Amino acid sequence: MALAAGSHFDVAVLGGGYAGLSAALQLARARRAVAVVDAGERRNRMARHAHGFLGRDGDPPGDIAREGREQLLAYPGVQWVEGRATAAARSDNGFVVDTDAGRVSAARLILALGVVDELPALEGLAERWGRRVFHCPYCHGHELARRPDAEPAIGVLAAGDTAVHQALLLTDWGRITVLPCAGWQPDADQLARLKTRDVAVEDVPADRLLHDATVELADGRRLMFAGLFTQTHTRVASPIPEALGCEMSECPTGVHVHVDAAQATSVPGVWACGDVARASGSVALAVGEGALAGIAAHQSLVLG
Ligand SMILES: Cc1cc2nc3c(=O)[nH]c(=O)nc-3n(C[C@H](O)[C@H](O)[C@H](O)COP(=O)(O)OP(=O)(O)OC[C@H]3O[C@@H](n4cnc5c(N)ncnc54)[C@H](O)[C@@H]3O)c2cc1C
Repeated sequence: MALAAGSHFDVAVLGGGYAGLSAALQLARARRAVAVVDAGERRNRMARHAHGFLGRDGDPPGDIAREGREQLLAYPGVQWVEGRATAAARSDNGFVVDTDAGRVSAARLILALGVVDELPALEGLAERWGRRVFHCPYCHGHELARRPDAEPAIGVLAAGDTAVHQALLLTDWGRITVLPCAGWQPDADQLARLKTRDVAVEDVPADRLLHDATVELADGRRLMFAGLFTQTHTRVASPIPEALGCEMSECPTGVHVHVDAAQATSVPGVWACGDVARASGSVALAVGEGALAGIAAHQSLVLG
């Protein structure tokens, strides 16, 4: 929807995934004017099912987001702005945000922009991401066993040191084989740690992924798995938080916006929630932190 010139809101929420929807819902219920700017590229959009979100376990992720949006838009005072926020800056009465659909001005900002996954460079991986290749065992580990008592064969495409932690964790979900790729190899300490949980390690690197979850090694052998895991390095989906001056945090899995216990960033009047503001996220965490950010932004409007 195109914005009327000079549109002013109490709060602009940048990003309308699970965190942004949840933040906006609290504000809408507080009878505040809220604009949600959303580019429509949720992080889990390629997955068929979302798991681990109480009440919606196993539902298609798009259904959860669509129903959340429908419930939000039933409240007056909410404007959905389809498109990308391209810039944001402080102004006399809060902030101005440039979007594909025009300029939004708001007293407060909530950043719910999500992250982008940077995956190891391995032929066939990107197109299987979220379908056969995953990063989070809590989201997709349980479904790999055909029977509740079965021990599925799971491959870990290991592209960095965090693969060791991932492979050790995954031993609760099946029989694990570490498949080094993208130039990474485990050192002696890492091999010893993997041995403590009976993790098998291939010496020959993975070369490419074939149909389903079959991995071809550099020596031509083909190994079939029930599913594959790998490590993602995440970056914030937009340069806006840094341009606003938000303090950032770096950890082994990527970069995110630093927030306090009430989701406030280092910039007064700006909150951040969901994956953009944590090391590794989930739908449940995004919804919870979004609610917290929405409430905190609302209280600052009333109490200063
Ligand atoms: C393959 C895969 C499978 C997953 N499966 C599960 C699962 O089963 N269960 C689970 O709990 N979690 C799962 N996750 C994690 C889950 O997807 C995230 O934790 C969750 O999406 C975070 O919600 P969010 O609202 O913070 O970000 P997102 O859902 O990514 O939403 C961010 C939104 O902001 C928008 N945006 C970005 N930049 C801009 C901009 N400049 N202007 C406007 N809008 C912008 C994006 O387009 C997007 O719509 C999975 C992740 C992946 C990668």
